[in-house]
Amino acid sequence: MILPKSHRLTPEQLSEVTAIVTEFGCQIQPIIGAVRTIYAIVGDERDELMINRLEGLGYIERIDRIQSPFKLMDRRSDLATHRIKLGGVTLGEELFVIAGQCTIDPRNPQFFFETAAAVKEAGGHVLRGGVWKPRTNPYAFQGDVKSLDVLMEASRRTGLPVDAEVMDESHVQLALAAGVHMLQVGARNALNYSLLRAIGRAVAEKDTVILLKRSLHMGPINEFISAAEYIASFGNPNVILCPRGTAPALDGYRNHPDESIIPLLKERTWAQVVVDPSHSVGKAVYVPACALAAVAYGADGLCIETHVSPSQGIGDDPKQAITPKVLTETISQARQIWALRHPPKAV
Ligand code: PEP
Ligand code: MN
Repeated sequence: MILPKSHRLTPEQLSEVTAIVTEFGCQIQPIIGAVRTIYAIVGDERDELMINRLEGLGYIERIDRIQSPFKLMDRRSDLATHRIKLGGVTLGEELFVIAGQCTIDPRNPQFFFETAAAVKEAGGHVLRGGVWKPRTNPYAFQGDVKSLDVLMEASRRTGLPVDAEVMDESHVQLALAAGVHMLQVGARNALNYSLLRAIGRAVAEKDTVILLKRSLHMGPINEFISAAEYIASFGNPNVILCPRGTAPALDGYRNHPDESIIPLLKERTWAQVVVDPSHSVGKAVYVPACALAAVAYGADGLCIETHVSPSQGIGDDPKQAITPKVLTETISQARQIWALRHPPKAV
């Protein structure tokens, strides 16, 4: 819908606008009001270049788009009935839980094996373990490819599918070759479009699931869903959105908890939402409350950092991993909130 700055377009302006939209296979239909005339764009109005050219005309106030920019991830798309299945769960049918260490310590793999067993025992569906780590400090431990063997061995021992963050194309290839079931795109790479495209291409013919974190800065909702669309556009729609807190932080927390975004996301996209409370609040003591709030806001699942002995962990684990005991309690309470939000359907 084109809204001109004046009451209506002059005949010259109308023919300029018509010429532009015609180039993109659209037509103009004026809607004459008592005071103002607006101009509907009839046809597929999603071409960015057409919109940019119209917005560049000095006499146009704004363009309101009627069609969603998301062909696949839109709530009204044909894919809206698509459900992701992993770890014995169909997302949306029961609370989905990803848990495990922030970082696998390749020198102390026994911690990860114990954590993995504890995640299984607590009722987790997917085991997470950081192999490659995006670290702010270039001298901090950056991860180690040897941890990939530890991750896969823990998967074999527990029978749980595994999730690991990938930061570049070589990680994607190594993780897929090893059999990693879920690739995580971290907050720092959430808008790295060449990585999103590389992942989309690499998983196009597979049933791999992608856990897409929300970018660190307080990105608009459409930007978050568009990032998922990038991956899905190659053919695999198994993309889960993961709010994980945004910057600037709420004083005292690591980030600004953003689980309240869930009802807004669900209005626009059918994508399932799995909240990461660990990076959101950044301190073990606050994680359970954030996890429960997320489920109350409508999360389909949680991604929680846990460690059998947090103080002996590396990466984020000493400060934000909860113990398996707290994980078990949190999952049990979260399931109660989930049940309140999903009462059995009357027959
Ligand atoms: C992580 O999951 O350990 C991580 C680094 O997450 P984020 O990308 O959300 O910071
Ligand atoms: Mn972490």
